[in-house]
Amino acid sequence: MASSECLFCSIVAGEIPADIIYESDSVIAFRDIDPQAPTHVLIIPRHHIATINDLEESDAERVGRLFLAAREIAKQEGFEETGYRTVMNCNADAGQTVFHIHLHLLGGRELSWPPG
Ligand code: AMP
Ligand code: ZN
Repeated sequence: MASSECLFCSIVAGEIPADIIYESDSVIAFRDIDPQAPTHVLIIPRHHIATINDLEESDAERVGRLFLAAREIAKQEGFEETGYRTVMNCNADAGQTVFHIHLHLLGGRELSWPPG
């Protein structure tokens, strides 16, 4: 998929509005439009990568930066000690609907396990 057809690339480009709460050179994070917890943030690389299956060796730092952003946002939101969850869905069985990788950060309530 060309990045021009990707919803999250459009958010990175500023063409579609989003509630952006974190930005760095390689990562942005914004609030999910359909939150599943009091805090539900999507952390994405600026660079388009469709799924986990499309990751290359050169993406290793990029992916690490998603988790470093999650740590910072958890601190900002005040639940770094009580706990939170990060999830990245891949393809149909996991329910991936946007094909630009995104780390879900969920917090602010107790989260059950296993997920559905
Ligand atoms: P996934 O099912 O893992 O692909 O997650 C996609 C997520 O993107 C869902 O939680 C949606 O609610 C969220 N989402 C879809 N469109 C937008 C948007 N325009 N702004 C913010 N979040 C969105
Ligand atoms: Zn994209």
